[in-house]
Amino acid sequence: MKKVLKNFLWSLGITLLIILIALVGNELLTHKNNLITKEGFVLFSQYNNVSDSIPKVQNILEKFPQLKIYLENDLNKKVNDPDTIKKFGNIAGLYENNNIYISTLNNSTTLFHELGHAIDAYMGCYSALGYAAEDFRYTLSSNDDFKKLYEKYKNTSIFTEYGRNPSSDTRKCLSEGFAEMFANYISDRNKVDKEVATYFDNIVKMINELKPTEVVHSLK
Ligand SMILES: [Zn+2]
Repeated sequence: MKKVLKNFLWSLGITLLIILIALVGNELLTHKNNLITKEGFVLFSQYNNVSDSIPKVQNILEKFPQLKIYLENDLNKKVNDPDTIKKFGNIAGLYENNNIYISTLNNSTTLFHELGHAIDAYMGCYSALGYAAEDFRYTLSSNDDFKKLYEKYKNTSIFTEYGRNPSSDTRKCLSEGFAEMFANYISDRNKVDKEVATYFDNIVKMINELKPTEVVHSLK
């Protein structure tokens, strides 16, 4: 009887161990599979025919090593907030806590839009509202110069309805307009007005000149 019990406990222990290994392994694999690596990102850029944008994007990613890009098929599930889903419909991209999530690899504009939110989170709107560290040297989407630029170009084709509609913005600054303008500029600098291109050239230059200690880490 004692031997039977001992055997039973052994099998139970081994079964639990196998389940644990499977769970941890799956978690690691999922994590690894969803994270878009630098190499994966280069392929993605070539696939979307935006290879010219790679150097700029890579420089930005190097300045913000905490920023990770993930592929998540069901972003509505991840957002898990009925009001947000009702407002935005099918969610194609999301920036949150140093992470960018995109629902498909076929849409470079979405990724560049979320990248715009990320740099705005480190150096602009979010930090001005206290979401990031208290660093007020940079004020990207909450800057008066940007507001003027936005007003001037908001009715042009570089904005979708979403970007030009202030009610899209949940952060009390022009973060959606900033993200859309940034996405257009990164996608193809020659397709935006010269004034817009120059404005964002300066932002890219400012980011390139950041020293590692100057990078603001987003807390939320
Ligand atoms: Zn957005």
